[in-house]
Amino acid sequence: MAEPKKKPVPREDQAAADTPLSSTPLADLLPREQLEELSTLQLVDLITSKLPPRHASIFDMVYLRERIAALEEMNDQARAALEKMDAIIEKLRAPAFRIGTFLAPVDRDKAHVCLGGTDYVCRVDPAIPVASLQAGQRVLCNEAFAVVQGLGFDRNGPIVRVDELLSDGRLRIGQEAGVTNFILQRSALLAKEKMKPGMEVRLDVNQRVALEIIGVGKRVDRSLETVSELPWSAIGGQDEAVRAIRDAIELPFLHRELFKKFEHSVPKGFLLHGPPGCGKTLLGKATAYNLRQQIQAQTGVDHPEFFLHIKGPEVLNMWVGESERQVRDLFAQCRERARDGALAFLFIDEAESILGTRRGGRFNSILSTLVPMFCTEMDGIEPLTNVVVILASNRADLIDPAILRPGRIDRKIRVKRPDQAGAQAIYEIYLRDSLPLAEPKADLARAVTEAHFARTPDNEFAEVNFRSGRRELLCRGDLASGAIIAAVVERAKSLAIRRAIATQATDPQLTRTDLLTALRLEHEENDLFPSTDLTEDWLKLTDFDPENVVKLGPVRARKTERSGVV
Ligand code: ADP
Repeated sequence: MAEPKKKPVPREDQAAADTPLSSTPLADLLPREQLEELSTLQLVDLITSKLPPRHASIFDMVYLRERIAALEEMNDQARAALEKMDAIIEKLRAPAFRIGTFLAPVDRDKAHVCLGGTDYVCRVDPAIPVASLQAGQRVLCNEAFAVVQGLGFDRNGPIVRVDELLSDGRLRIGQEAGVTNFILQRSALLAKEKMKPGMEVRLDVNQRVALEIIGVGKRVDRSLETVSELPWSAIGGQDEAVRAIRDAIELPFLHRELFKKFEHSVPKGFLLHGPPGCGKTLLGKATAYNLRQQIQAQTGVDHPEFFLHIKGPEVLNMWVGESERQVRDLFAQCRERARDGALAFLFIDEAESILGTRRGGRFNSILSTLVPMFCTEMDGIEPLTNVVVILASNRADLIDPAILRPGRIDRKIRVKRPDQAGAQAIYEIYLRDSLPLAEPKADLARAVTEAHFARTPDNEFAEVNFRSGRRELLCRGDLASGAIIAAVVERAKSLAIRRAIATQATDPQLTRTDLLTALRLEHEENDLFPSTDLTEDWLKLTDFDPENVVKLGPVRARKTERSGVV
């Protein structure tokens, strides 16, 4: 039964209160300081010990002792629980650990760590041997930026493409957006890895260390073309252009010493300009083929050609930096192959679309970065050792003059439409001796060329109105091209084949009539000419100065109008 609570007895009265129980007051037994140090239980024991044996209060004291002991135990438990809670709260209030990238040891207890993009020399917890940390791994740093734990390697991080391997193994990265390049060290994971330019690697979040090879990288391999046998003689009617190319490229390659002696500048490439279908691509490939043959004949060493053919619009990409990345990648591929001993050619068709003057338009912002970037790449080329760059365009007037400055693409070679003699030469190339021709090829070629170039009303093809008021009719011959001639001969062959099947001829032959019919059909179907009447489209086919032309379009419109009136 609980006793009614007693008022605490003041200390001074303590001895008096004890007096009936004992002859000696507690205060006389022990000095006050020692008494103060005793626990309640000890005090109870002391008081009990002073009671005479078999005193009536001894049992009460034992009961009291048990109650106090139970209370003290509860107190102890509560205190322990509170302390635990305090410790937890303390922990939760502590600032977060930082995660950094370990870059290198500094000495036995210090490490070079990158934290949030800033470098620190951090102390390392003596429990962690600095030698156990690996370059690129993550480390936990406390408030004082001391390394307190080593973590594994990051699983995430940006991916970049390796531009170049430095001799000490570090990697040079060309930043995609075309802003700056930077150098990276390899993590311990990549230390022994065989790496190549063009590879894609994953970086730590601080972008200081390459951690993992992600792939060899997607390259513009689709543009790689094999160059088939293509001697200069396979190109007709372009003697001037062929001579200019040979002078510009073959001579310096074959007579390096002489060029060096005379300190004569050697071009890094050339621009082929002229209407479509007249052999610009063909000339580019023939340059590669013939150069390889010539070098092999002269030195006995075969350098296979590496001919990258891209169309300007293929490179244009709406993603910021992607076009630049592709162009940089093309140059990098060529340089890489040249290092491996190949004759590297970078042929950019429709070059005006990516290297044009910075006109307004959708791709304006891309062009404004592509041109300077292309110039930088060109400036980095060593003539004769790296890459021959060939640009092709039918609107050379639109190409940014910065590209055509000396030291870059300073040779401009005109690829004209073939004249009558040129066209005949091309017809002769395609009317090969090995074909079953009904007449000598020269006669066939002459006949079809004459029909092609005849200035008859039937052959009137396009009409041009000049600013001066003058009007001129263009005949088929004025718009002849190697591509049209090749197509006419192919069509004639298919006519001959169909006839041979129909008549079951034992000795099928390609005749003059096949060629003339093919010529007519080719122009009627008109696949090779613009399907619109837009002057702009037709101007691309001619050499007229756009400034002087008011209108240029096919005659068919006029003919239809006339027949409509009839
Ligand atoms: P471009 O690059 O000027 O538009 P291409 O070189 O692609 O023209 O020519 C297309 C095709 O026309 C060639 O593959 C070839 O068959 C033929 N061709 C063009 N010009 C000539 C030429 N001068 N001699 C022989 N074939 C030619």
